Amino acid sequence: MFGLLPEAISAELAAHGVTVRDDEARRILAHSISPMARRDAKKRPISKALQANVDKLFRATPLEVLERAQDSADGFVKYLFKHPDGALSEAVRIPLHKPNHFTICLSSQVGCAMGCAFCATASLGLTRNLETWEIVSAFSLVRDEAPGRVTGAVFMGQGEPLGNYDNVIAAAKLISHPCGGRVAGDMITLSTVGLVPQIRRFVREGHPHRLIVSLVSAMQEKRQRLLPVAARYPLSELAAALKEYGKACNNRVTVAWVLLSGVNTGPDEVEALVALLGDLRLRINLIDLNETERAQTHFKRATDAERQTLMDSLGQLGFPVVRRYSGGAHKHAACGMLAATFQETPAPNS
Ligand code: SF4
Repeated sequence: MFGLLPEAISAELAAHGVTVRDDEARRILAHSISPMARRDAKKRPISKALQANVDKLFRATPLEVLERAQDSADGFVKYLFKHPDGALSEAVRIPLHKPNHFTICLSSQVGCAMGCAFCATASLGLTRNLETWEIVSAFSLVRDEAPGRVTGAVFMGQGEPLGNYDNVIAAAKLISHPCGGRVAGDMITLSTVGLVPQIRRFVREGHPHRLIVSLVSAMQEKRQRLLPVAARYPLSELAAALKEYGKACNNRVTVAWVLLSGVNTGPDEVEALVALLGDLRLRINLIDLNETERAQTHFKRATDAERQTLMDSLGQLGFPVVRRYSGGAHKHAACGMLAATFQETPAPNS
């Protein structure tokens, strides 16, 4: 039953001859994914007969948690899930600066087809898209164990979220539904390497969620080497789509920039970025590369000096620049390290 909005729950039950009122459909959703709503719903439970129908008609098996690995350095917890078909995926519980507040990093696919040169997930290749119920189930399992409030979700785990557009958007709707995950719509972020048609669709459809585009380089040839998707959607097309998005969201457009020593931190990149997107209100998130043997690349994390020089140059041009902390590295939970691997020391169940 994970994966259906109240209207779809009503329609599905009606197709099997079971009629439910709107409030009952909302409570069925609450029972399925929201512990807080579940507590409220206990006061007004759905009838036993209806519950029996729900159990019979909807999938009730959540994912199996194979492992929880907590990074003692920063409190990040990586979850490894087993799906009914044996596929493995991951999610990460990320502590926020505000005490007892968390966001959850979710996967959108099993593996990934994008082949980014510096990413461990790329080495897996793509097995399949995650179904909506699988994404929501992962969210629910991680959230139920959080020792505090989950106030956000980011699709930055395994996979390219816009490559599984329909299921990811449906999951985001459920995670932000007041009877579902209860996360504010604009606290859900989808990260993309730049699938231009899907960015345009996202803009047309007017979702409340945020997009972050992993730019990494503003130079076409280099970007193509680092992110093969750039051959399909060149920077000129991506820039045009980002400008549409900037206009539609009436806010700064965030681009992510994984820092690769000696590759994309120089003045040539700053110059190219200004030429490409200088007329757009940008926010730039700089992310340190997490070196992992799984990625089997020769890339190195940028030095402090390289990072600082780039930050200063961008800052002088008026771009807000944030150095994003990418935690959980000791448990291979950080950006670019999710490759469905086991750790040795499981975390406590919370
Ligand atoms: S960085 Fe993201 S899109 Fe690129 S290979 Fe890794 S998971 Fe896929």
